[in-house]
Amino acid sequence: MSLLRSIGLLGGTFNPIHNGHLYLAEQLKRTLGLNEVRFIPSAMPVLKAAPEVSAAQRAEMVKRAIAGKPSFKLDPLELARAGKSYTIDTLLALRAILGNEVSLCWLIGTDAFKSLPAWHRWSELLDYCHFVVVQRPDNSGLSAAVDVAPALQTLIQQHITHDAQDLKRLSHGKILMQEIDALDISSTHIRQQLTAGEDVHAQLPAEVFAYIKQHHLYGAS
Ligand code: ATP
Ligand code: MG
Repeated sequence: MSLLRSIGLLGGTFNPIHNGHLYLAEQLKRTLGLNEVRFIPSAMPVLKAAPEVSAAQRAEMVKRAIAGKPSFKLDPLELARAGKSYTIDTLLALRAILGNEVSLCWLIGTDAFKSLPAWHRWSELLDYCHFVVVQRPDNSGLSAAVDVAPALQTLIQQHITHDAQDLKRLSHGKILMQEIDALDISSTHIRQQLTAGEDVHAQLPAEVFAYIKQHHLYGAS
């Protein structure tokens, strides 16, 4: 049986994009043999307060962060769409463009994955993509199953695979928990540090750091 082309999808606020995002994308691309990774900034996040930095600026930082990496792409489809950014709509739009003969792998940290039952039409998402769940170093292991909603536990049991090849044999429908050595970096912490006048340059690509300084984002001087 021939294997499918596979595309990693990394949705986020990217407020701002940081080395944790890039390291996640690079490791999963290598480990899973993804043909490309698309970064999908959300226009209006559903579960977070509206960011004070514009969607265009967040997208611009993503663009700068991935410049020179041909297998990483900025996908502006949520920015072009009015209203809230629902992942189900993003997947339907991607399937309309890409068809069904491609594997779509939604890459996601445990923190975000735990909130899945709050997502619009969440139980349908696996009809269109796989989930590749990585542990963030700070908190939030899924192994701490106590704080995973029962409905999500059931979904995991029904769709879990331990074979990464499944992601290329099938176009959608599997959940893979993938070990990576994630970097302990978050946008929230970076914003806090910038506001406090602390140095964050080691946590971001140089081009993103320069952009933040140039436009005085997050209170940076
Ligand atoms: P914020 O603190 O504003 O929530 P964030 O650092 O969590 O920002 P997001 O844009 O919310 O970044 O994250 C997008 C996706 O990337 C989510 O699925 C999140 O779990 C994942 N992610 C973010 N940072 C890391 C990291 N350091 N390691 C692994 N995954 C990460
Ligand atoms: Mg987050």
